[in-house]
Amino acid sequence: MDRIQINLGREMTAAVLEDRQSIRLQRMAIPQPAAGEVLVKINLGGICGSDRSAYEGKIGAALPVIPGHEAVGRVARVGDAVSGLDKGQRVTIQPNFACNSCRLCHSGHGNICGSKVRLGVDIDGVFAEYVKVPARYLWPIPAELTDEIAVFTEPLAVCLHAMRQIPPTSGIRILIFGAGVIGLLTTQLAAREGAQVTAIDLSENRLALARQLGASQTISPDQPLDAHYDQFDVIYETSGATVALDQAIRLATDRGRICLLGLPGSETPVLVDLIVRKELQIRGSMIYTDEFPDALKHLQAGHIQTPALATDIIPLKDLADALAAFRDPGRVKTLVRI
Ligand SMILES: [Zn+2]
Ligand SMILES: [Zn+2]
Repeated sequence: MDRIQINLGREMTAAVLEDRQSIRLQRMAIPQPAAGEVLVKINLGGICGSDRSAYEGKIGAALPVIPGHEAVGRVARVGDAVSGLDKGQRVTIQPNFACNSCRLCHSGHGNICGSKVRLGVDIDGVFAEYVKVPARYLWPIPAELTDEIAVFTEPLAVCLHAMRQIPPTSGIRILIFGAGVIGLLTTQLAAREGAQVTAIDLSENRLALARQLGASQTISPDQPLDAHYDQFDVIYETSGATVALDQAIRLATDRGRICLLGLPGSETPVLVDLIVRKELQIRGSMIYTDEFPDALKHLQAGHIQTPALATDIIPLKDLADALAAFRDPGRVKTLVRI
């Protein structure tokens, strides 16, 4: 029997972002994988800050669209000209599809390809029973990794990419702005390298998690920030807060390095004089290039604690409520069972 002739229904349930702050469950046709594509049956998704931004209308999503890009699932159907992936195989999705033909793609920087297609923003994403994905963007999940751990592969790849821009080294003083998922994963990676990690966040609950996961010091909003000026060798900005860069420039030591992962989505004044006088280096870090295999290896080796980050697990029908409550300080990562 031809392996693409498997017994699927014709319709699926999907959460569709129809307009700003309007998500509705719909029945729709199961997508058909074209040549080079694979249909994935989603088991578990994760809600990301960019899903919230799309929900708020802050990302130019191609509405109506099924949101979501973090997921694990199983191969349900394989299109023509796909090899190495079999029906039933568990996979995670690398959800940004570069053009693979421009100058940036050819030089290994497909993460910033101008023609990149974003799953769940430009095309239908993972908050549905099925999604179709180019086969080259699927990564098999090792048997010993549960779905609940493997769903962190994508955000972990974001952190690993940032750490390639500015590597953490033993003994250096690192400040991590924002103790959300990216901040808490970065905290663990940096602590593993022997760096002294300080975390800063508005939520005492998240700071407690940061301490539990390897931060030796935390700074809460009621503490005066100037007591910490000029103290940090490396700063990772994961919050996207508009004030974060200004604060990072003041908190960095002479010749300090700042890695920006957060996207404020608005213009921010910059203290040029301090950047010059301190000879600071500031680097942006955008998603990932080839970090997925490394992310899976870190998870497989047990280097990263994810259970403390998975604060909620909801059914697909509660997606709209979870997106509306995204900024609840008690939440870190909300997983979506599909
Ligand atoms: Zn994400
Ligand atoms: Zn390209």
